[in-house]
Amino acid sequence: MSIRLYNTLTRTIEPFEPRRPGEVTMYVCGPTVYDEPHLGHVRSAYVFDVLRRHLARIFRVRFARNVTDVDDKIIEKARQDAPGGDLNVACSTVAARYLASYHQALALLGVQAPDVEPKATEHVVSDGKDFSSMVDLIAKLVATGAAYEVKGGSVYFAVRKFPRYGALSNRTVDELQAGTRVEPGEGKQDPLDFALWKAAKPGEPSWPSPWGAGRPGWHIECSVMSMKYLGEAFDIHGGGLDLIFPHHENEIAQAHAAGKPFAKYWIHHGLVTVNSEKMSKSLGNFVTVEEVLKQCNQHADVLKMFFLSAHYRSPLNYTPTHIAAARQHYENYRLLTDLANSPIISRPDIEPYVTPIAEVEELAQTFFNALDDDLNTPEALSALDRMRNLSSRLHAEIKIHGPGQSEEDKNRTGRFLSAVRSLAEHGKCLGLFEKLGKTTLSKQIDGWFEQYKAARIGKDFKTSDTLRKKLNDQGFIVQDTGGTSIIIPKH
Ligand SMILES: [Zn+2]
Repeated sequence: MSIRLYNTLTRTIEPFEPRRPGEVTMYVCGPTVYDEPHLGHVRSAYVFDVLRRHLARIFRVRFARNVTDVDDKIIEKARQDAPGGDLNVACSTVAARYLASYHQALALLGVQAPDVEPKATEHVVSDGKDFSSMVDLIAKLVATGAAYEVKGGSVYFAVRKFPRYGALSNRTVDELQAGTRVEPGEGKQDPLDFALWKAAKPGEPSWPSPWGAGRPGWHIECSVMSMKYLGEAFDIHGGGLDLIFPHHENEIAQAHAAGKPFAKYWIHHGLVTVNSEKMSKSLGNFVTVEEVLKQCNQHADVLKMFFLSAHYRSPLNYTPTHIAAARQHYENYRLLTDLANSPIISRPDIEPYVTPIAEVEELAQTFFNALDDDLNTPEALSALDRMRNLSSRLHAEIKIHGPGQSEEDKNRTGRFLSAVRSLAEHGKCLGLFEKLGKTTLSKQIDGWFEQYKAARIGKDFKTSDTLRKKLNDQGFIVQDTGGTSIIIPKH
């Protein structure tokens, strides 16, 4: 099966065919950095991380995610933080602080960094090297009559001059206009028109432009930065469902009105909800990443299993019960993840016995088919669960572990290792079990552990107890399972 994805623009699940064979270009709207990241932000980043990992199995992926570092909310926050201070400095400080928090949250989740992470403030005016700044695009839209300048130095996009407006949100211009109005002093010709350039207000950050000092409207940055880094025709544009209108509708209008092909697939994820309401800073019903990780016992995999349990296009309701269920789900993997982390995974004497298992290969096929089918992560996770059950069963079949195994038991151990390695490998396609197999023991710890095993085989329990304690003091738990022992770093 080939990859199929739901395209918001056509409202159908389409076969995914990148514009250039073998290569995918993908742009996702990133955060506006004015506060600590919450659960909704990391779900968004994780959804696109899973999509990127899946695409990267087949294609070379170039991924850009922007940072909105100038905006009304940032200016407001800067005013609160540094009353009477230099607003330019205060805005940069606010943006830098919360961008660092955002990066930290994604690092805790093991979300891969984008290939390019352009900042809005660095793309307002031309850098002299090329003509792909926001001011350049706005000037082009004004020149073609798609946009107009008003008294006072602001520039608006004339929505009714763009016939395909509303195609993404599947509404007519009149439907979209319902409830909108022109605020006094705005000077807009039509209530639906949106700002491309906002004339400077005293003290606020501003840049020079042909229409006087000012700053860009929000939508223009994504049209400009996506095309600058991915080309005027790129493959995927993504974000939350709440960005379809007006943000993405406006991005399309700005790019198409300037004659650019722009994005081919529009991918939107559902929102994190609390009692069926969107989790957001403004509603005050948000939970920070730090708080939710505490509820997950600091295991990012618990949070990821919570995310994976819903299809990316569905809303995801956050309740303590749902997090508890994800914790249990993760615990069901614990024995195997612990084993995979232990030296049992690399027993050279067993390697010749590690052979592919038909049942695992079938489950692997189910797993990838599910991901190909519009990234059906609940199905993929269920295939992983079945792989885990199989691994447990194979483990239970081993009668004696370690030295002194019969030929038959070596075969069983080999089959178990094959299954558990496959489990770890498929988990990694979803960003799970990232730490598996990465534990390397120091020479001293390894030495003590070898002595420990030898002492137990020789039934010298006094020595083994002493060594167990020493290892424990160094942060390692020793478990005796069947005829062998494994060493696990404490979590
Ligand atoms: Zn955007």
